[in-house]
Amino acid sequence: QPVIVFTDVTKIYPLDAGDVVALDHLSLEIQRGEFIAIMGPSGSGKSTLLNMIGCLDIPTSGDVIIDGKNIRTMTDDQLTELRRDVLGFIFQQFNLILLLNALENVQYPLILKTGETGCTDRCKEVLAAVGLTSDLWHHRPGQLSGGQQQRVAIARALVNDPEIMLCDEPTGNLDTKTGTAIMQLLTRLCREQGKTIVMVTHDPRTAEYADRIIMIEDGRITEDA
Ligand code: ADP
Ligand code: ADP
Repeated sequence: QPVIVFTDVTKIYPLDAGDVVALDHLSLEIQRGEFIAIMGPSGSGKSTLLNMIGCLDIPTSGDVIIDGKNIRTMTDDQLTELRRDVLGFIFQQFNLILLLNALENVQYPLILKTGETGCTDRCKEVLAAVGLTSDLWHHRPGQLSGGQQQRVAIARALVNDPEIMLCDEPTGNLDTKTGTAIMQLLTRLCREQGKTIVMVTHDPRTAEYADRIIMIEDGRITEDA
């Protein structure tokens, strides 16, 4: 059954220079376990779409249903909870906390959720699952390669066992070989753990890993294959 449903969604940013229509009556259904790539020119609405799935932005009109919940009817606290329990975020710049080591970065969301610090077993399990060897668990981001940092970021996104993984240019800061390894990891999470993955990318080679490529232009879907 669909885990993400957009029905006639419009997003307008009112600016002094005039309204910007970032999403224009967009409808979309994403099934559980699908691996989706979103592509399109700069300014076409990709980030807005991803932010809306991520409950960071609310539609001007239309409905966004995430895991059965309509985000327009939810309070900020409920949105925060949904974000924490159902969604995992992965970014181009990794967005790790530079003062914390790999293990502590992965622990961080669990501490926010449970208030407990004694969750190292779960974090080690997830770090091992994303292929980060144990000699690196006590390294800070600055002591890790880009690919290793992205593995830590993926472990952090996975630690709460989210239904949906949102990836914004996950290979944008990686060389081709490392990017391939990260895409193989994401593919494995989709196939073996049934994660739903929604990824924004400019890179056609990265998009090839997806089951379905959605092209958007001027806030509208121009192709869905
Ligand atoms: P993309 O990710 O495809 O580059 P965006 O979703 O970032 O596209 O932007 C779509 C359009 O909405 C652009 O014209 C952009 O300038 C505008 N936009 C996005 N976010 C905001 C915002 N917070 N305030 C005003 N305009 C925005
Ligand atoms: P990307 O590299 O992912 O395409 P963007 O430059 O489109 O990134 O957007 C980065 C962030 O800035 C997004 O969260 C988007 O909503 C916001 N943003 C984009 N355009 C504008 C704008 N004109 N005014 C304010 N915020 C914007």
